[in-house]
Amino acid sequence: MLADDEEHRYVVLSTREVKGEARFDGERVAVSAGFSLPRLCVEAARRGLAGIEGLGGIPGTVGGALWMNAGAYGQEIGQVVESVRVAREGRVVEVPGSEVSWDYRHTSFREGELLLGATLRLRADDPEQIKARMEEAKQQRFSTQPHGARSAGCFFKNPPGSGLSTGRMIDEMGMKGERRGSAVVSPVHANFIVTEGEGARAGDALALAEEIRERFRREHGIELEYEVEFWGAEGKDEVGGMESKTEGGGLSDERKDED
Ligand SMILES: Cc1cc2nc3c(=O)[nH]c(=O)nc-3n(C[C@H](O)[C@H](O)[C@H](O)COP(=O)(O)OP(=O)(O)OC[C@H]3O[C@@H](n4cnc5c(N)ncnc54)[C@H](O)[C@@H]3O)c2cc1C
Repeated sequence: MLADDEEHRYVVLSTREVKGEARFDGERVAVSAGFSLPRLCVEAARRGLAGIEGLGGIPGTVGGALWMNAGAYGQEIGQVVESVRVAREGRVVEVPGSEVSWDYRHTSFREGELLLGATLRLRADDPEQIKARMEEAKQQRFSTQPHGARSAGCFFKNPPGSGLSTGRMIDEMGMKGERRGSAVVSPVHANFIVTEGEGARAGDALALAEEIRERFRREHGIELEYEVEFWGAEGKDEVGGMESKTEGGGLSDERKDED
């Protein structure tokens, strides 16, 4: 998520304290939206439950992962969702996972809906094997992505249906290390824009992102879609007068493991 530098004139709800405990029951786990996704993955692995071990390195909450259908290393959270508790039009409803569209970093949840928690259906497996797969994903992430740097994860989606990797293509365009003010194309992974210093500005990151999109369009004839969500000062999904490109965009099986 990238928030505009200007003053925001709307209410933002934090789910940080909406976490409680993850409640395991056989292969099911009920968890609140504010619960840490990495922690959930560790707790599931400890109980010999597979299905989310590839997501252990994604920083964020269960709610954020549900909203964006977070995924990595061949798994997506939407694949294991039995139901989601949603505050919708003034009521709390239990929405079956099968009624949600789980697309590539996009879901059918609507603006203004607050996800309160979910019940996931995992699968029993050998705890040692789950831990081994988790460790492998962690090592791969560690060696291919910047760590300790400020970023929003992958900035752009991979071109849908193409099997292409946006990060690799930006790298091949020679843009690693390119800078606009406080924002830099990560020298480690070219689909990450990292920012430096306390005074870093969203405007710098966005200017750099637009430069990448422009060059990508020129060199490959492809319009890159943003993977990050924008919070504009006036309303969601608009930063610096630009609209977010987060609606839809390809099927979930077009993801890349390096996401
Ligand atoms: C280093 C790094 C690596 C990453 N790697 C991956 C990866 O491999 N795969 C992948 O899929 N993603 C990856 N991401 C992106 C990641 O999915 C998101 O950053 C994370 O899931 C967002 O969770 P959050 O709790 O921080 O949500 P936020 O960033 O706070 O919010 C994200 C969006 O979801 C909405 N939202 C959040 N919680 C709720 C809720 N309870 N109800 C309604 N709306 C809500 C927000 O309004 C916002 O629009 C990575 C990010 C980083 C920084």
